[in-house]
Amino acid sequence: MVLPIVAYGEAVLKKKSKNIHEDIDQLDELIADMWETMYNANGVGIAAPQVGRSLRLFVVDPSPFAEDETLSEEERQEIKRAKKAYINPTIIHREGEEWAFTEGCLSIPDIHEDVFRPEQITIEYYDANFEKHTDTFDGLAARVIQHEYDHIEGILFTDKLSSLKKRLIKSKLNKIINGKVSIDYRMRFPKAKKTR
Ligand SMILES: [Zn+2]
Repeated sequence: MVLPIVAYGEAVLKKKSKNIHEDIDQLDELIADMWETMYNANGVGIAAPQVGRSLRLFVVDPSPFAEDETLSEEERQEIKRAKKAYINPTIIHREGEEWAFTEGCLSIPDIHEDVFRPEQITIEYYDANFEKHTDTFDGLAARVIQHEYDHIEGILFTDKLSSLKKRLIKSKLNKIINGKVSIDYRMRFPKAKKTR
């Protein structure tokens, strides 16, 4: 089922999410709904707070980035390897130089800004069968994972911008809070009367 995506300004996006217990009800259904919601909105990742659940869970599929023809086959496989559900993840190591990439967010439609993040991460997480893994990712895979990981920590990419940039996008953010954006997927806005 496609779930409404929570828009910028909703309190759940600013909260640190809680760990998931293995016996949680309907986890498989939630994960399936998150995949469907993400693909429906043409996203490359979505975190549980973005569908209104304050849980340490996100799904990532950066494979659209693998279509870039300038990449080697190895780089493409590396990007596709990140396609997974990540449960109770912890980034245990960050390495490499910080590099800028223009990011967007399904909760913050129509705003795209450069964000600096480290090149490589090592992440511990449980998969959908509650088996523990430790993996290292770099480049765009590490980029998408770090963006989603920030969501479960209550951090948005707009929080990482300079104070000047924050001032420049303030009126756009206010429009989102009030639901004054045109989008082609379901969203729930803090100050709009209805979910669209
Ligand atoms: Zn996001």
